[in-house]
Amino acid sequence: MEKKEIKQRENLDETVEKIIGAAPDKEEPRRFCRKCLTREMDQTEYFQNLHEYIAHLDKDLKVDDTVYEARLAHCKTCDDLYQGMCRICGCYVELRAAMKKNRCPQVHPRWNRVKNDE
Ligand code: SF4
Repeated sequence: MEKKEIKQRENLDETVEKIIGAAPDKEEPRRFCRKCLTREMDQTEYFQNLHEYIAHLDKDLKVDDTVYEARLAHCKTCDDLYQGMCRICGCYVELRAAMKKNRCPQVHPRWNRVKNDE
């Protein structure tokens, strides 16, 4: 695994820990609940952390804004988009679309991978 991928995974782990273990009060010790369901989480904080994570993805791994918005435009017109998630892969499309290595999971993808030199 490349150094960047390792760093990305570490960042993702930290973000996931923030999402699932965030305590509302800073005085309160952070709770880590790896078994929580999304319905048990504070949705506002969950999505804030998700958007923060997307904003701070490594530039080498992330698509530029034009590609990102084009991908999301495809998702917006797709019947498989449901409440921000792709019904085929289960990903939040805003996160999936941010990564160069990802593609739409349909058999005939609506958007494709971006190579690093593109
Ligand atoms: S990733 Fe592809 S299948 Fe999923 S919602 Fe977006 S366009 Fe539709």
